[in-house]
Amino acid sequence: MFEEEKKQIVDMSLRLYNEQLIVGTWGNVSMRLHCENGEELYLVTPSGMEYEKTKSEDLVIVNGEGNIVEGHRNPTSELKMHIKIYKSINNVDAIIHTHSTCATACAVAGVTIPMMVEDMVQHIGGDIRVAKYALPGSDELADYAVEALKDRNGALLKNHGAIGIGKTMLDAYKSCVLIEKSAKILICAKILGHINLLSTEDAQKMIEYYNNRYGQK
Ligand code: 13P
Ligand code: ZN
Repeated sequence: MFEEEKKQIVDMSLRLYNEQLIVGTWGNVSMRLHCENGEELYLVTPSGMEYEKTKSEDLVIVNGEGNIVEGHRNPTSELKMHIKIYKSINNVDAIIHTHSTCATACAVAGVTIPMMVEDMVQHIGGDIRVAKYALPGSDELADYAVEALKDRNGALLKNHGAIGIGKTMLDAYKSCVLIEKSAKILICAKILGHINLLSTEDAQKMIEYYNNRYGQK
C-alpha cells in the first residue's frame, strides 16, 4: 500500500542528503496519506537511519495519535511536529525538516529572513519567521513550528534548523531550497552592507501573480 508515496519519500530523502540540505541522519520527511475509507494517516521516515540505506520498507505509517499502523522501525523523533502541522494546516500534504547550514545560521542568530527576492516571497508567502526555541521532539516545538508557519510554506526552528511544507513533495522541497538560498543571500548581503527590502505592496503583487498566473496555468 502507498508504494508511490514511499518511493517519493525515499527518493527525496536521498536527494536532500546528496544536496546537503540534510546532513548525517538528521532531518526528516513525511507525507499525508488519504485513505479510501476517509481516514488520514501519515507516512514518515524512520529515526536516525542513514538516508543512503533507507528503503521503502524502513518507512513508518502512523495514525493521528502517532501510533504505528505499518512498519517495523521507530518513526522520526519529530513525529509530533509533523502530525501537529498536518492537523493544523489543511492544504499541506508533504513536510520536510532540514538542518541546512545557512538556514540554521539564521536560526541560531534568531534572525527572521525578510522579504528580499521574488522566488522566496512567492513560494514561501512572505518573510521566513523563526519559531521559538523548544527541545527537538517536544510538544512545544510542534506548537511553535505551527505558529511560525502561519500563512507561510517555511520557517526556521531556533537553534535547530528549518521546516518546509507544501501541497506536494516537490513543493515542500522547493520551500527548503528557497529557505536555504534566502538565508545564504541574507548572510552575503549583510557582509556587503545594506539590505534593500521589497515593499509589502510589491511582495503582495508577486504572490498574487505566482498563485494565479505564473508558469503554465
Ligand atoms: P530523526 O532522525 O529522529 O528523524 O530526527 C532528527 C532530527 O532532525 C531531530 O530534530
Ligand atoms: Zn532536527
